[in-house]
Amino acid sequence: MQTFLTDIDGTLTMEYSVNCSGGLQPFEFLCDWVAESLQCPAGEAEKRIRAAGDPETTCWFRLLERLNVPEGPLWNFFCEYYRPRLSIPEDTVEMLSFLKERNKRVYTATTNSRKITLVKLSLGGLADTDGSPWISGFFGGDSFDPALGKFAPDFFQNILKAGGFDPAQTVMLGNEMEHDARPALNAGIACAVLIDRTQTRDFYRDGKIIHVRNYRALRENLPELF
Ligand SMILES: [Mg+2]
Repeated sequence: MQTFLTDIDGTLTMEYSVNCSGGLQPFEFLCDWVAESLQCPAGEAEKRIRAAGDPETTCWFRLLERLNVPEGPLWNFFCEYYRPRLSIPEDTVEMLSFLKERNKRVYTATTNSRKITLVKLSLGGLADTDGSPWISGFFGGDSFDPALGKFAPDFFQNILKAGGFDPAQTVMLGNEMEHDARPALNAGIACAVLIDRTQTRDFYRDGKIIHVRNYRALRENLPELF
């Protein structure tokens, strides 16, 4: 296989189920930061944000760029926001290094925007604000129109077309049957790997769907995939 598409949440990251509901919420921070930068009240800042794009579907870093507001504080906010909420497991780091050593191309296929993906990967030392040496490209929630990411029915078809990928040489890494494995296979992608770090069995296969407990088990049990 040449191309590895990967989901982010629950696939490259592991999410903690701790209660983190306190503290400033991201949209409040965004409004406050725009208000401070543009020296206007928070209500006015929110109006300007919404005039720059729909915050539900537009990457907020792009909105800041359109408003001429520096993005550094939003990056730092998100790093602190996600730090108690998720981690990058060791087998993710090993897997991405392994794929890079073998010159495989890894692209994200996620509803996360490129920047939010970078924030999350940066928590494991895998990225910074400029990019990630382990990731060749990013297909995020706002990559195609409509900006629905994985919730768009033709998301994987669009990725294959945009990347010029041969579906027979493409694998999807994910953690959800409904949003990762099934739509990828429906688009003609050769196989899907579903990771569940809580499952008891290391590895089992169900046709084109490969279930693993971690990426070590994938490499050990299916070396021909690489
Ligand atoms: Mg996921």
